Amino acid sequence: MSTNRTFTMIKPDAVENGHIGAILEKITAAGFKIVAMKYTQLSLRDAQEFYGVHRERPFFGELVEFMTRGPIVSAILEKENAVEDFRALIGATNPADAAEGTIRKMFATSIGENAVHGSDSDENAALEGSFHFAGREIY
Ligand code: GDP
Repeated sequence: MSTNRTFTMIKPDAVENGHIGAILEKITAAGFKIVAMKYTQLSLRDAQEFYGVHRERPFFGELVEFMTRGPIVSAILEKENAVEDFRALIGATNPADAAEGTIRKMFATSIGENAVHGSDSDENAALEGSFHFAGREIY
């Protein structure tokens, strides 16, 4: 059964480039309700754990360095079919392959610095949401 929540981060590149407001506008205009949100910075350990599944990939070091270099916005979003609909809204991992109008097409600069994260399954959405938020921070 699919759940109605997903987890997202506005990544350091998009924060640095001043896109927080525009990205949140796209997210809410697409019908997602923000049920948790914070402005924070990942530690090295946080990023290594969050992206642990990619530990053996050649880009792991680059990914961790990028994700820790500045603040991010993390959020839990609610909408029917949230995981799938949010992945459609953000577009392909590589902005060069992302569809017109998607968040990555509009705001990302490269496959690594791709503006936003979106959970890829209901299971990961729940794990990632609880990695970033305590129960009392979720509304
Ligand atoms: P996603 O689910 O679309 O975010 O993509 P993945 O789970 O495959 O990768 C996780 C994140 O790792 C991506 O969002 C990128 O930030 C980064 N990443 C993926 N592939 C590459 C790559 O080839 N090079 C670099 N530098 N980063 C990558």
